[in-house]
Amino acid sequence: MLTVDLAALADNWRFLAAKVAPAECAGVVKANGYGTGIEPASRALFAAGCRTFFVAQIAEGLQVRAALGAGPRVFVLNGLQAGADPAEYVAHGLSPVIGSSDELARWAPRAADGPPCAIHLDTGMSRLGFASLAELEAALARHDRAKLNVALIMSHFVSSEEPNNPLNDAQIARFEAERALFPGVPAGLANSSAIFLEQRPAYDLVRAGYALYGGNPTPGAPNPMRSVVRLDVRIQQVRWIEPGDSVGYNAQWIAKRRTRLATLLAGYADGLPRGAGATGARPGADVIIAGRRCPLVGRVSMDLCVADVTDVPEAALRPCDYAAILGEEIGVDELGARSGTIGYHILTSLGPRYRREYVGAPE
Ligand SMILES: *Cc1c(COP(=O)(O)O)cnc(C)c1O
Repeated sequence: MLTVDLAALADNWRFLAAKVAPAECAGVVKANGYGTGIEPASRALFAAGCRTFFVAQIAEGLQVRAALGAGPRVFVLNGLQAGADPAEYVAHGLSPVIGSSDELARWAPRAADGPPCAIHLDTGMSRLGFASLAELEAALARHDRAKLNVALIMSHFVSSEEPNNPLNDAQIARFEAERALFPGVPAGLANSSAIFLEQRPAYDLVRAGYALYGGNPTPGAPNPMRSVVRLDVRIQQVRWIEPGDSVGYNAQWIAKRRTRLATLLAGYADGLPRGAGATGARPGADVIIAGRRCPLVGRVSMDLCVADVTDVPEAALRPCDYAAILGEEIGVDELGARSGTIGYHILTSLGPRYRREYVGAPE
């Protein structure tokens, strides 16, 4: 069962909003609200006071509109998407984050009557955004600036979770040059981790995603955020194997001692990384069973994974009990790191087969 604590999500938003005030704290709800459910997450954030939302895709923008109506601002980070009709953005009041001369040319005829847009300058990701200040200036010169209705200028950090990375200062400097082109227009550069940088690059608006959902924006230091996601899965079977017996596909883990195993009802089709189980070559992730940490062993299968429960007292363990894969003790950061990926990936992979329960929903 996947339990999403919407009260913790709202608390996390209030914590970040207070930290960045007087800047605004926008909520990033792309990728199904980082796996938690875009509609319940958006409603909880709105009830807490969030009035600006960021999604990646136009289809996600429609989901936010379905949940919240016409009230909040909704920015589409992927911009005026390739192949999309600008009229669709206008019809649903979705603000494109414009990131190229081509997008600006497509948007300009709609700009005066449509929702406000954002302008994205690439300061280091080499992914989206105007590739240089010169390209941006040349594109702006082709349009009537007053009619473009620009509500936000933005860029995105490459490594804001690394406070000592020199790229942070370099990107701040490039962003300052972009800001100078738009006097009086609100600016936003920070994602979750950047909120905690000592340079404090909050400007007028921050785009918080990961931290809202309980991810640690300050890796290496204690997590200041509340845990939002709990994942408990059932134990289907318990068995003993002998030294030399293997577990799972391709026999990647071999028992060194007489070992008791619990087979759990979650696999890679549910978003548990295939590499979450220990192999002979590397350790894997732990789960909590009967209050104890138990290592996952062998390759995770499509629908199942296996935990070594030898050290759990026999009387404390029965089929049908739960194993906690995610919760207060083992969060998305730990599961990601121990599985060869990141907590963002763990969250956004939370599978559709889990029974979902929402607690702490706003009245
Ligand atoms: C996903 C995303 C964010 C949110 O980042 P977090 O690290 O999850 O807070 C902010 N800005 C852009 C452009 C993004 O793509």
